[in-house]
Amino acid sequence: MNYNIAVIRGDGIGPEVVAEAIKVLQKIGSVYGHNFTFTDVLMGGIAYDQTGSPLPQETIEICKSSDSVLLGAVGGPKWDSLPGDKRPEAGLLGIRKALNLYANIRPAVLFPALKEASPLKEELVKNGINIYVVRELTGGIYFGERGRRTGTFGEEAYDTDCYGVEEIRRIAKVAFEAARKRNKKVTSIDKANVLENSRLWREVVHEVAKDYPDVTVSDMLVDNAAMQLVKNPAQFDVVLANNMFGDILSDEAAQITGSIGILPSSSRGDGTLGLYEPIHGSAPDIAGKNMANPIATILSVAMMLRDSFSLEAEAKAIETAVETVLNNGLRTADLGGENPISCSQMGDAIRDAIL
Ligand code: NAD
Repeated sequence: MNYNIAVIRGDGIGPEVVAEAIKVLQKIGSVYGHNFTFTDVLMGGIAYDQTGSPLPQETIEICKSSDSVLLGAVGGPKWDSLPGDKRPEAGLLGIRKALNLYANIRPAVLFPALKEASPLKEELVKNGINIYVVRELTGGIYFGERGRRTGTFGEEAYDTDCYGVEEIRRIAKVAFEAARKRNKKVTSIDKANVLENSRLWREVVHEVAKDYPDVTVSDMLVDNAAMQLVKNPAQFDVVLANNMFGDILSDEAAQITGSIGILPSSSRGDGTLGLYEPIHGSAPDIAGKNMANPIATILSVAMMLRDSFSLEAEAKAIETAVETVLNNGLRTADLGGENPISCSQMGDAIRDAIL
């Protein structure tokens, strides 16, 4: 089978970690008999430097016609003083919107070999952490009407948090479908004691839940969820949240599993096309030094194989290879340890562990 993958290497450590993920995909291709074709496209700071736009139209077209998109990371101090619509991050929001990728999935998994990297006490993580955050990505307060005006206290600013029934329904379905393949438990996050928008969210989630009698659903206020994540992370299976609550809680969930360098993500819409990327940024402080951890990007391509291409055995082979190298004690600098290996050595080790 042939799979066309658009590749956005981006800025900073983006090209370094993407190179390792491609290495791993090529090994999967040769072991399982698949052909992966990679087409490089520009986005982020490098795209601005070369074309004057952080998201050239050609990139959107090629991504739309590909089977999936692999992204490293974008941004860096070089582009920080540009106007908002020229900044690398505008490319990121633009591509998600252009491809209608409304569901952001961030699994937060604590590898047994990395228990000591979690900031939580051992007794809290001894049974592991395996949380699947489903965050709505193209609606809510990040996309609502905003502005400035004069009010009682002088100049004031406002942002509107608005969700439609269909918007909530489609993201809720993503969460329930995922829960069906996991431990059949959805925790829906809201602030229904205060916000009308959250009350609608809760109503729609429970309506969708009727189609999934095999899945347990519970509601949790976002402030309580922030506490529960550090108090008892093992209670969570699938966490469903709107754009802003999901943004904040998924970072918290990521942090309790140890390093930011190991967590993957996917952004999906209605079709099989997805955008797969590590949750970390372009890490300008270590860019060009061959010391970034490529595991988050490598696990992102495992998600791509499973979620976009339905290649479960191949995805599992990558995840098992990652576990094997971690169990063997190999660590990049961010994971601590006495003899850290480089980004490319970690990529080589994971590639070689795929049998
Ligand atoms: P960051 O994630 O790039 O870095 C935070 C810290 O984590 C740094 O110390 C960095 O060295 C370390 N780190 C990150 N990834 C690592 C890896 N794979 N291996 C080892 N260490 C790693 O976040 P930041 O410093 O806040 O942002 C830097 C730039 O990245 C900014 O321009 C920001 O806008 C951008 N950014 C991009 C994305 C994206 O492309 N999706 C996401 C977040 C931030």
